[in-house]
Amino acid sequence: MIELIRPATADAERPYVTRLRSTASSFDPHDAVLVDGDAEGGLFSGAFGIVAIEGIPPGQLEGEVVLVDPARRRIERLLRAESTTNTLLVTERCDQLCVMCSQPPKKTHIDRFDLLERACLLAPEGMLIGISGGEPTLYKERLLTLMERTLSIRADLSFHVLTNGQHFTAADIQRLGAPDYRRVSWGIPLYSTEPALHDLLVGKDGAFAQLEEGLSYLAIAGARIELRTVVMNDNVGGLPALAGYVSSRLRFVEAWSIMQLEHVGFAKNRWPALFFDHSGRFGPIAEALDRALLHGVRAQLFNFPRCTVPAAYRSLAIASISDWKRKFAPACSDCREQTKCSGFFEWHPDEEARVTVRPL
Ligand code: SF4
Repeated sequence: MIELIRPATADAERPYVTRLRSTASSFDPHDAVLVDGDAEGGLFSGAFGIVAIEGIPPGQLEGEVVLVDPARRRIERLLRAESTTNTLLVTERCDQLCVMCSQPPKKTHIDRFDLLERACLLAPEGMLIGISGGEPTLYKERLLTLMERTLSIRADLSFHVLTNGQHFTAADIQRLGAPDYRRVSWGIPLYSTEPALHDLLVGKDGAFAQLEEGLSYLAIAGARIELRTVVMNDNVGGLPALAGYVSSRLRFVEAWSIMQLEHVGFAKNRWPALFFDHSGRFGPIAEALDRALLHGVRAQLFNFPRCTVPAAYRSLAIASISDWKRKFAPACSDCREQTKCSGFFEWHPDEEARVTVRPL
C-alpha cells in the first residue's frame, strides 16, 4: 500500500498546495524545490516557505502535487505523477447512506475547493483527475466552477466525477452541454430496476426517482456517463433485468461497470450478508453481461480478480483497483495475467485472497 499522507513540518501559517521538484529547471511560482534530502525524507523550499517531508525519499515525490497542512503537521499527496488513478475528495458529506459504503460520510464539510483547484492547475500533463466524496454535487456550484476554470486553462486535462446523479436540474442542461464538458465523465451508481430496492440499498427514499430525473438531464446535455453497479446478495438476481433496463432506456451511457464489493467501511461488518461470491455462481452476472453486450452497451467488470471469472468473460475484468490500495496474494507472482488483473483491495482479508487465487 502506498501511503498518501506523510508527516511534514512547514513554516507557513495556512494550508497550501505546491508541486515538488528536484531541480528548479522549469520553475513555476507554485513549485517547491528540493534543498536537501536522503532516504528518510526531503527539505523543499518554495514561495510559501520551507516544508520538511518525512518517511519518503524525495525521488519518489518528483512532480507530485501535495497539500501542505502545517497545523496537522502533514502533507497529502493529491496528484502523483507516476499514478494513472488520482482522486480528489471534495467533501465527506453525503445525502445517502449506502449499505456497502466504503467511506462512511461525515456530517461536517471542510471547504477545500480553492486548494483543490490549485492542485488541478498544477497537475501533470494529460492527467485524468478523479473527483469523489461524500457526494460532490452537494456543492454543485463549487464543483462545476472548479472544473470549468481548470478545463478552460488546461486543455490537456479531464475529470471523472463519482456522484449519485440526483442533484442536476433542467437549469443545468445548457451549462453541462458546453464543449469543455466533453472532458468530464460522470460515474453514477444504479443498483436495481426496482425503485424500492435501489432506495433501500442507498438508504434514501425517492433516490431512484431522483436518479432517473438526473440521468434524463444529463442525457439531454450529452453528458458522458459511466453507470456503476456493486454486486451484492440482494441485487445479484436482478442483474439481468438491470441489463435489460440499461440496454433499452439508458443506451446513451458510455459504459456499465459491474463492481465487486470492497471489504471496508460499512461492508466490512456486513460482509456475510452482502458479499456475493461470484466465483461459485457466475450465472446472473454472465447473463447480464451477455444482454448488455448484445445491445451494444460496453459492460465491464471492476474488482474481479481475473482467475475468479470464467474464461469467456475474463477480458471484461479490468485492472480497476488503484495502485496505492491494491495487493496480490503470494501465488499471484506466478500468474501470467497479473499485469492485467485488478488483484485485491489492500483491506481484503489475506487468507480469503490466498485461497481464492488460481494463477493463470
Ligand atoms: S492469480 Fe492473482 S494475478 Fe492471477 S488472475 Fe488470480 S488474482 Fe489475478
